[in-house]
Amino acid sequence: LFLVVSIIFAYVMSRRAMKPIIHSFVRQQKFTADASHELRTPLTVLHSSIEVLENETEDILSPFGKQVMDDMKDEVRRMTSLISNLLSLAQADAAVVDLTYDEFSLDGELERAFRNFQPIAQQQAIKLVLKANTQVIVRADQERLQQLFVILLDNAVQYTAAGDRIMMKATVKGNLLTLQIQDTGIGIPEAKLQEVFERFGRVDESRNRTQGHTGLGLSIAKWIVESHGGTIWVESEVGIGSTFFIALPIVSHLATT
Ligand code: ADP
Repeated sequence: LFLVVSIIFAYVMSRRAMKPIIHSFVRQQKFTADASHELRTPLTVLHSSIEVLENETEDILSPFGKQVMDDMKDEVRRMTSLISNLLSLAQADAAVVDLTYDEFSLDGELERAFRNFQPIAQQQAIKLVLKANTQVIVRADQERLQQLFVILLDNAVQYTAAGDRIMMKATVKGNLLTLQIQDTGIGIPEAKLQEVFERFGRVDESRNRTQGHTGLGLSIAKWIVESHGGTIWVESEVGIGSTFFIALPIVSHLATT
């Protein structure tokens, strides 16, 4: 009896002791999520203001002035992307985000991501190939899935040189959807293959062609995939290229149209 009473006592005391710690942890995560959200609004305003200013001063600005204007827009974009990445991670930590499940065409969603990357790929003479003729309707969080495609395509473009190729391929077997994003870029050393999915996990700062990459993208990608019950991994060879694989059990049914 003494043992049982002791165990119950210890349990009650430990719950009491843990309560403020848990509360403060949740409060802190909630604060980060709220703060990130609030920070995005002024940045959106700032971005539009710079664009207005740019239009108004188009004829009078010197090349240097135009460059400064472009730099300002780049910085705002970088901050916006950093904040929205931090927001995603804070929401993941605080478990305040519930995925919103919708049914939509997988091919359509992949095409949407591809369309958005076509101009930037063309600009850098990178060939984009999409092999997605699955004709399936998936049940998933549409915006999160789009965010996932953007992270992976953005990286593929970032770490691939002019003249290279990026291919996105979707295949479906039973209830399992497999996505492959393959590039012929610089590759990732074997020792770093796990690390890249960690927060701020980067192979080497000097490898980035443009600023703004913070090492958060793949940790968010991992969170999106895992919160849909899937897995993500990468196979890569330095100097040959990388292929990111995503396996997701989210196919609801074959489309009838
Ligand atoms: P970042 O914002 O730095 O790109 P990510 O989390 O998206 O952060 O990626 C982490 C690191 O993984 C990158 O810094 C880069 O070193 C490496 N990486 C990601 N994708 C690729 C790729 N397609 N090819 C080569 N290296 C990559």
